[in-house]
Amino acid sequence: MNVKLIGFTPNPEKIPAMAAMLTHSKNKPEDLEKAPNLNAVLAEVLKLGHTSVIEHTSFTFAISDVSRSLTHQLVRHRIASYAQQSQRYVDFKEPNYVTPPTIIKNIEMKEAYEETMTIIWKQYNKLLEMGIPVEDSRFILPNAACTNIMITMNARSLLNFFELRCCQHAQWEIRELANKMLKEVKKVAPIIFKNAGPTCKTKNICHENKRDCPLYPK
Ligand SMILES: Cc1cc2nc3c(=O)[nH]c(=O)nc-3n(C[C@H](O)[C@H](O)[C@H](O)COP(=O)(O)OP(=O)(O)OC[C@H]3O[C@@H](n4cnc5c(N)ncnc54)[C@H](O)[C@@H]3O)c2cc1C
Repeated sequence: MNVKLIGFTPNPEKIPAMAAMLTHSKNKPEDLEKAPNLNAVLAEVLKLGHTSVIEHTSFTFAISDVSRSLTHQLVRHRIASYAQQSQRYVDFKEPNYVTPPTIIKNIEMKEAYEETMTIIWKQYNKLLEMGIPVEDSRFILPNAACTNIMITMNARSLLNFFELRCCQHAQWEIRELANKMLKEVKKVAPIIFKNAGPTCKTKNICHENKRDCPLYPK
């Protein structure tokens, strides 16, 4: 899995801080750029839960070599924009798939898994050779098939995404993605994402009610 933050709103923390300040100011928004204590104002409004101001900041990620199983879960997050590699316009003649760690650990299972993938791709190529359109041949490709996707999300939506997907009980591949995305955005917007993570961290609540989890709120 490759995850790269390829773009974000310039001044990602100053812009939402100005938005927060504007609500209580007689000044024009553009005149607030040099206002004192912008960072403190942003930290304070976030503490109060006024997270609409951070919708003014967005982040774009390039994500490659993840499974279609991951992207199916990812695109359920509606407050975002996506572009995904097409299985209609791109043919995937060479096997390219993700293997879950539980299968990698089991030599016998790994062999069976790889054998299955070889058969799937052999049949896929056979369908293409028989003149079946790419859009129909792809029907036999697995959830494990690799894909590339670009996503743009605003900071508020990202906080929701991290609450749901950084959780220990989120599926392992999307959890790995969420943790990598969080690491990237923390570098450029440390105030916004200071306390980001699963709800056991942000709200001291476990929505999954997993009492055996080591992170279960005390
Ligand atoms: C551990 C886990 C297991 C899951 N299992 C399943 C499953 O078995 N089956 C399944 O179908 N899904 C499953 N999901 C997906 C889940 O139900 C959500 O669709 C997904 O996490 C997106 O979350 P979201 O709606 O908060 O995000 P977004 O779509 O980005 O929405 C963000 C927020 O905007 C608001 N919002 C967005 N759209 C609307 C709307 N139309 N009306 C009102 N408010 C809206 C809500 O407050 C929402 O929280 C699972 C998710 C997790 C984390």
